[in-house]
Amino acid sequence: MILAVSDLQNPSFPAGGYRGRFAPSPTGPLHAGSLVAALGSWLDARYHSGKWLLRIEDLDTPRCIPGADQEILQQLLSCGLQWDETVTWQSQGQERYEKALERLNGLLCLYPCTCSRQKITNALAALGIEPIRNQEQVYPSTCRPPVIGQYSDLQNLDLKQSWRLALPSTCQINFVDLALGPQNQNICEQVGDFVLRRSDGLFSYQLAVVVDDAEQKISHIVRGQDLLSNTGRQIHLQEVLSYPRPQYLHLPLVLDEHGEKLSKQTLASKINTQDDKQSLTELRKAGAYLGLVDLPTGENISIAEWLLAATQAWGARIKHKSSPL
Ligand code: GLU
Ligand code: ZN
Repeated sequence: MILAVSDLQNPSFPAGGYRGRFAPSPTGPLHAGSLVAALGSWLDARYHSGKWLLRIEDLDTPRCIPGADQEILQQLLSCGLQWDETVTWQSQGQERYEKALERLNGLLCLYPCTCSRQKITNALAALGIEPIRNQEQVYPSTCRPPVIGQYSDLQNLDLKQSWRLALPSTCQINFVDLALGPQNQNICEQVGDFVLRRSDGLFSYQLAVVVDDAEQKISHIVRGQDLLSNTGRQIHLQEVLSYPRPQYLHLPLVLDEHGEKLSKQTLASKINTQDDKQSLTELRKAGAYLGLVDLPTGENISIAEWLLAATQAWGARIKHKSSPL
């Protein structure tokens, strides 16, 4: 099957060209759900003749499993999902997160917090707010000073304090998701001042992902819908740091037979990539979750051929209904 270059080109790129990424946390090997995110982001990048970067998000070291990063790389290659440019590991880039934190300090929108989870629960209870299961607690600004100054002890980890971003009094974020349409999130009501550096010194996912997406000039973020609720926080942080806003596309979640999201926490089993046949079976399942129909079903088709057909199917849907899903 030959794909004409003109079929793959879409004029709506940002100036630097399409740059997408897949950013797994190495808390275990890829499972069916993470393969959907990998495949969806890869297809979107390939259809747009863009770059697809691979970033290992290994900042939350207590949750990382040694060797899982290498296994993920291997699984992606077995599925024919080749990345462009050098793989990056967040654990190797602490200075850039420190610099961003220093900038926020200079912008007077950072303050230290010594609240434990229990103290936050108690403070909320005193306000008549009971915790809701599986839902993050909205930080009630307990430690927020009336006027925020600049701090000189930002790098003093002995103080065992976390650092939170001070939100403006209203923080309503609107964006158009390329799959889900218009979204709005009220960060003050839904999250409150959120943590950028934890009391154990680890940088938060929110800070690291925003800094890296900007440094790597990511134009399109294609990822699972489980991350949708983080997007408002990330867009706000981009605005405070004067970073450009990428486009977002959140993919459908893969649910298990109990209707729960597949994740390492629910012990989702890893995809089977022991040979090409198994890898193709996994890709076909992931493609079906993405709603890709009419793809070649034959036994003798190669992974490369299947991926090319999937890229065309993805692109055809963007052309016909301006969304791949
Ligand atoms: N590292 C995150 C995860 O594995 C994904 C980050 C992202 O795509 O923004 O859940
Ligand atoms: Zn606090």
